[in-house]
Amino acid sequence: MKDVIIIGAGPIGLACGISAKEKGLDYSIIEKGTLVNSIFNYPLNMTFFSTSDRLEIGQVPFISQQPKPTRAEALEYYRRVTTSKKINVNLYEEITSIIKSEGTFELTTKKNNYLSKSVIIATGFYDFPYLLNIPGENLSKVKHYYSEPHPYFGMDLAIIGSANSAVDAALETYRKGAKSVTMIIREKEIGENVKYWARPDIVNRINEGSIKAHFESNVKKITTDTILIETPRKEISIKNDFVLAMTGYQPNFKLIESLGVEFQKDEHRTPVYNNKSMESNVPGVYLAGVVCGGLKTNKWFIENSREHAPKIVNSIINS
Ligand code: FAD
Repeated sequence: MKDVIIIGAGPIGLACGISAKEKGLDYSIIEKGTLVNSIFNYPLNMTFFSTSDRLEIGQVPFISQQPKPTRAEALEYYRRVTTSKKINVNLYEEITSIIKSEGTFELTTKKNNYLSKSVIIATGFYDFPYLLNIPGENLSKVKHYYSEPHPYFGMDLAIIGSANSAVDAALETYRKGAKSVTMIIREKEIGENVKYWARPDIVNRINEGSIKAHFESNVKKITTDTILIETPRKEISIKNDFVLAMTGYQPNFKLIESLGVEFQKDEHRTPVYNNKSMESNVPGVYLAGVVCGGLKTNKWFIENSREHAPKIVNSIINS
């Protein structure tokens, strides 16, 4: 019987593992993919908006070549932290069910069953894209994750959305030889939250016509070689080879719900938890990292949720 099982080996799950180990708890981290699986799946050339010191966990210095570290540097850093701190992580094991009975949690994966006195849910938000729910969305040319520009060389590309991931993808594919890049944006303008160095770049490319943008517009239908766009004036059909639907992601609420964790009655489905201990309404079930924000996935990030780890571990020790 473990003292605590941590679900998810993202930065915050790892931070929880470090805190648990430092305080002598018997713990395991169970991860369904590779180490820091979400960051692994971020665009290959992405740069963090945080400086490297703000992504550090366990007081291990994160040295980066530039003030803003890259995905590759972050992968290297979190691998090094895991090995140097000898963190106990089981990879490629998805927790598919958790049953609580008489104060004990039984967690199941395809390989193992685990018993634990408490559970930390640090499952992030990057596994479930928001769907468009329009005809043609299931075509193989429609992608919800962007990795790198090369596949779009010489292609007519449509990008749905105007947040950071859409803007980064538009600028990169335009510069790496996409035949045309067209953004379809629900709002009136590029979002104010777009990284301060990327926003003027995208606005200028749109103004000069290098990247086309349809504001206050929605994609209505996707076919193998076109997309149908509803603009404020009329519906238009444009030639299209690929669609990048950069419409955001949402946490998987299934595990949390199955445990009886409740949600606030707000628009974000914020899970109920105690701010001081991070314990949910279900005794012994703790929430850590981005999952704590529910659908508001930009509320908690690495920088500001590292502090969840010591709070949770102190609460477990004192319970
Ligand atoms: P995640 O990193 O998402 O980790 C959750 C883990 O849980 C994943 O590895 C997942 O595979 C695993 N998991 C899920 N379900 C299960 C299951 N059932 N069983 C087992 N394992 C499971 N934040 C910053 O602070 N600074 C930045 O500069 C920054 N830049 C970003 C840039 C981009 C492009 C994006 C998309 C995000 C950025 N963020 C940044 C946000 C940051 O990456 C997330 O907030 C952070 O990853 C959250 O960490 P986490 O550990 O809570 O969740």
